[in-house]
Amino acid sequence: MKIPLLNLKRQYELLQPMIESKVLDVLHSAQYILGHNVLELENRIAEYCETKYAVSCANGTDALILALKALGVGLGDEVITTPFTFFATAEAISIVGANPVFVDVEPDTYNIDSDQIESKLTRKTKAIMPVHIFGQPANMGAINKIAKKYNLYVIEDACQSIGANYQGKKVGSLSDIACFSFFPTKNLGCAGDGGVITTDNQKLADTIKSLRVHGSGKVKYYNYLIGQNSRLDELQAAILLVKLNKLDTWNHSRIEKAAYYTEKLKDTSLILPHVWESSVFHLYIVQSDQREAMVSFLLSAGISTGTYYPVPLHQQIAYKNLGYTDGSMPVSEHLAKRTFALPLYPELIQEEQDYIIQKVWEFENK
Ligand SMILES: *Cc1c(COP(=O)(O)O)cnc(C)c1O
Repeated sequence: MKIPLLNLKRQYELLQPMIESKVLDVLHSAQYILGHNVLELENRIAEYCETKYAVSCANGTDALILALKALGVGLGDEVITTPFTFFATAEAISIVGANPVFVDVEPDTYNIDSDQIESKLTRKTKAIMPVHIFGQPANMGAINKIAKKYNLYVIEDACQSIGANYQGKKVGSLSDIACFSFFPTKNLGCAGDGGVITTDNQKLADTIKSLRVHGSGKVKYYNYLIGQNSRLDELQAAILLVKLNKLDTWNHSRIEKAAYYTEKLKDTSLILPHVWESSVFHLYIVQSDQREAMVSFLLSAGISTGTYYPVPLHQQIAYKNLGYTDGSMPVSEHLAKRTFALPLYPELIQEEQDYIIQKVWEFENK
């Protein structure tokens, strides 16, 4: 049996007639930029995330950049974030001229360790950017408390966790501003690149609407800010409108399949995901002290896995200039040697999941 880490073809085939008719509508309309699909999607996302505003843009990285710019984070500022995430989290901070300041993660949730944040604050700290990693919300209660005490902004990197709840509230509504990605592999993905920003703050939403069209005002060719070109295409918005209707069902299915893995693998030597609040399981991440051997055993049985993340950001060559030494983020460094993802997606069928479980056990019993 061959099982990829993700099977987007299956998802597409399920929705093919609906998606194709919407795509054709857009092509026939010849309205490709900022038309009614984008507007409708933004309204639907705001409603879904329980925020007043949603502003779409070209991708999740731009969402982070636009959020930082709108908050006025820039040259010489510092933003607290996690080193155990996708590179774009810290990259966005650097792109606006600020510096990421890394705080190590919790060994069980893999989210930023809020207990260590205060010791990393300086007079240059402007914001905290927690990532809801692998689909599980960060400890937003503690993070918001610190932010309030020191007058800092909080920006959620929610790219991996659309639909997740924290204390009964939707991710994306838990801070000043939040950023999502519609990259095809995310829980809600389009057929290319896309992103969205959610906030309750009208001024921030208006600023981002301007920034995404070169800092233009309501009248074209009159520019008030140095912005960028970062819009979601009508085609992508039309596709996302079809898929958004499925998101809760898909997330539910991920949660069920994750619970099945956890039940069947609990007596192996693997360390399984620790759910402390709730998770929409963007990825099902396990730890093994024999990762390379297990991964290659599974691959020889036709099962693809993924390593998230092999290099913590403070050890990336691109961040050599920040001066972090090996051993400075011990938890992230430990995890980087041990974690990997088993295939988990709504379209994964029982027979495939049982096969994966069987192969993990075969490796265990070798
Ligand atoms: C995917 C992702 C991003 C970037 O999103 P893109 O749409 O690929 O630009 C940022 N942060 C995290 C945590 C992500 O998973």
